[in-house]
Amino acid sequence: MYENIKSGNKSSEQLIQWSKSYWIETCFDRAEKIKPCPSGATGACCRICHMGPCRFLQSGEGKVEKGVCGATLATVVSRNILRMSAAGAAAHSDQARDLALTLLGVANGKVKDLKITDTKKLHRIAGILGIEFSQRDIDNVAKDVAETLLEEFGKQKGSLRFIKRAPQKTQERWEKWGIIPSGIDREIIEAMHRTNIGVDHEPDSLLLSTLKVSLADGWGGTMISADIMDILFGIPQPVKSQGGLGLFKEKEVNLVFIGHDPTLLGVITEVSSEPDILEYANSKGAEGINLSNIYSMKYGINMSGGFTNQELCLITGLIDAIAVDFQCIMPTLIEVANNFHTKIITTSQKARFPGALHVQYDINRAKDTAREIVRIAIDNYPNRTGSGERITEYFSVLSGFSQEYLESMSNGTTVPPFRIINDAIITGRIRGIVGLIGSDNPRVQAAGIHSYLARELIGDDILVLSTECASAACALSGYLNPEIALKEAGPGLMGACEEIGIPPIIHLGGSVDSSRILTILSAMVDEGSLSDEIGGIPIVIIAPEWLTEKELSAACCFAASGIPVILGGTSPIEASEEITKIMTEVWFERFRGAVHFETNPEKIFDLTIEYIDKAREVLNLREYEYGKSGALND
Ligand code: SF4
Repeated sequence: MYENIKSGNKSSEQLIQWSKSYWIETCFDRAEKIKPCPSGATGACCRICHMGPCRFLQSGEGKVEKGVCGATLATVVSRNILRMSAAGAAAHSDQARDLALTLLGVANGKVKDLKITDTKKLHRIAGILGIEFSQRDIDNVAKDVAETLLEEFGKQKGSLRFIKRAPQKTQERWEKWGIIPSGIDREIIEAMHRTNIGVDHEPDSLLLSTLKVSLADGWGGTMISADIMDILFGIPQPVKSQGGLGLFKEKEVNLVFIGHDPTLLGVITEVSSEPDILEYANSKGAEGINLSNIYSMKYGINMSGGFTNQELCLITGLIDAIAVDFQCIMPTLIEVANNFHTKIITTSQKARFPGALHVQYDINRAKDTAREIVRIAIDNYPNRTGSGERITEYFSVLSGFSQEYLESMSNGTTVPPFRIINDAIITGRIRGIVGLIGSDNPRVQAAGIHSYLARELIGDDILVLSTECASAACALSGYLNPEIALKEAGPGLMGACEEIGIPPIIHLGGSVDSSRILTILSAMVDEGSLSDEIGGIPIVIIAPEWLTEKELSAACCFAASGIPVILGGTSPIEASEEITKIMTEVWFERFRGAVHFETNPEKIFDLTIEYIDKAREVLNLREYEYGKSGALND
């Protein structure tokens, strides 16, 4: 990584330089211009009542030890973390509720443009929820599943049903520390109540509440989303696509989708290949419709990057329209688009952007809405001005794995795939696992830390499970191309991947697909001979460029589930040693998980290795030695 280079991706950097020479402002300029408030950045600022904001200055004569109300620094820092996690849980879970309502609409026959695609997954979820499914009509089962999942949001008593998908011992830890969540909405509301002025002041209690609301997110909202997506669109299967900023086509209508609603993306994908739509594109002089996506590679759609690439793709001048829904979308898309011909189309009533065209996405007429969006892009194709920076680089990508896909792999043997994966860890061919997740961030060399870590980790025989912008960073560096990744992989991992039939970096999907890491780990525990709980498996989660509240919530869920988590960038709890200690040492003792904040990528790597090798030692596994691991059946 080099100084003064804003992005770790060569094409992105080329576009950043072009934008600078034409005075087009992007997030990279704003990140340089805006310095974080030193109190807020370290968690030492409270603004939850109008006697404040209270800034806890750390030194000198003005040192502040208590807010006007008397709250201590540790209370304020932990309260901030709880509020952030609750907000992250709200974002994930509101999306899940919409999906549950969509499933109900499909089951009732009101949503006609979507269907139950994966009956096997529907039955699996029905079984987990205790719903009878054999000999029953699919729509009736789907209705019961949707209604039961909707109950999970407003439930007032009893635990979330999906909690029992975790290993028994993991659940026992949650029980012991009183963090088994009840209704998702209830946990979010309780977190907001606790963090009001004059309510909960005990840092440990606030942080246990953080874990509880985060579990409601990870084993609730995000897991519900992932399951319903599977029911409606089928369980993810590896599919080939392309990733890069060079995939926009001069002679085709380029439509980019930015957001998180899989149903809208699904129907846009479907209608884009309808004969009438293609004919309409031809009538405007275009040879076809080229759909690509920021954030997710669902349905084999091409990927044009993560968070920091959303403004940059406009700079190519080739984008005829960008359709957005919600979450992680920059409002400045409209200003950047004004320099070109691109139309920005908002689609969600929850996410309006001044200056954008609005086409309200109506699930009851999903395909009509999608056609309207695609036609706007087609109508705009003849308006291209020819300005912009042309990019040529892109890579082929293999994306879309899941627990169910891994389970179904035959590998030419009768040995179950999770048995083979566990054995590969036991013999040291796979040293450990890293979940590489989270956004890319313009405050660091964007996407560069992701690709640096991905390369170093697989080079040290660590299997990587990737989601969201981490996947985008890997895709745009070529590492989601199995051939390229296998060349970078250490000898143990390379051999194990070839035998198992998986790439060294397994792409699992977008942000809600991070819950698939939890179900994969639970399946590994069920398989046996590694750890009898999620805690203790040689796995670390890294979100090296994180920036959203959703990622913080996910991190705390992983920590509660027994996984050490390392978040990059400056620490939002740095102001309090007490909170730092609770979120690392105390949480590790109680749950075998932790949340660290670390700015230095090399130190992130070293800490990861330390955790993985320590976990191997505790499990009495063969000491890892590069190039000297045992055979799979040792
Ligand atoms: Fe200040 Fe207390 Fe109000 Fe927070 S709640 S702003 S610490 S007075």
